[in-house]
Amino acid sequence: MKLTTDGLIIREQQTGEDDRLVTILTRDNGVLRAFVRGAKRIKSRSGSSTSLFAYGNFSIYRGKDAYSVDESRPIEIFFDLRNDIETLALAQYFCELAGELAPVEDDAADYLRLMLNALHMLSKNKKTRSQIKAIVELRMMSLSGYMPDLLSCGDCGKDNEEAYFFSPVEGQIFCSECVKDHTCLSLPSGVLSAMRYICYCEDSKLFSFNLQEENMKYLSSVTEDFVKSQTRKTYKTLDFYNTMKG
Ligand SMILES: [Zn+2]
Repeated sequence: MKLTTDGLIIREQQTGEDDRLVTILTRDNGVLRAFVRGAKRIKSRSGSSTSLFAYGNFSIYRGKDAYSVDESRPIEIFFDLRNDIETLALAQYFCELAGELAPVEDDAADYLRLMLNALHMLSKNKKTRSQIKAIVELRMMSLSGYMPDLLSCGDCGKDNEEAYFFSPVEGQIFCSECVKDHTCLSLPSGVLSAMRYICYCEDSKLFSFNLQEENMKYLSSVTEDFVKSQTRKTYKTLDFYNTMKG
């Protein structure tokens, strides 16, 4: 059986002298792992289109127990991501997160669009790394069923308070009275507005909000906490990014 789909390479591993195993976030079939046979021999033809961050059109053959890439045609290589070590580390984290959260053998068009937009923004320095990171974390969590409830206090339901607190573990906000029963982070109103924006806005406007840089960094730490609390995982690439970041 053969399938043809657009996809982004989110992981590459050398498996033998001449073979590589790549993980592809595909539009139509979610995350799949496929062998690239004779990678060196066919380098000039499809080497760059099967390396990390390459977005392309893939012809994938499904064998008895494994997929293999038959043909690949590059569309965008995102080469600029490699010009800066922090940017590279963050892009690798986005890939690890997509590998964790995107579906397998199911439509993943929303995830692919988010990743392509984020890598574009990142490679062209269109927004700060803090902003792009917060957007990817919170939006991808929302896509995969972890959308937090940010509209009203999770206990009493008050929806027009001045100040709210966020519980990364519960994925809810609480008012200043109810917060005492929960483990929460305080949320400046601008940060809460930004979180609501990321969760509820349409795709085309996702990157179009602004916050002061200090609040943006705080937002990014809140969304990071949320990812780690909800998925109960540590991410090697995130740890690496955090040690790189000045
Ligand atoms: Zn309350």
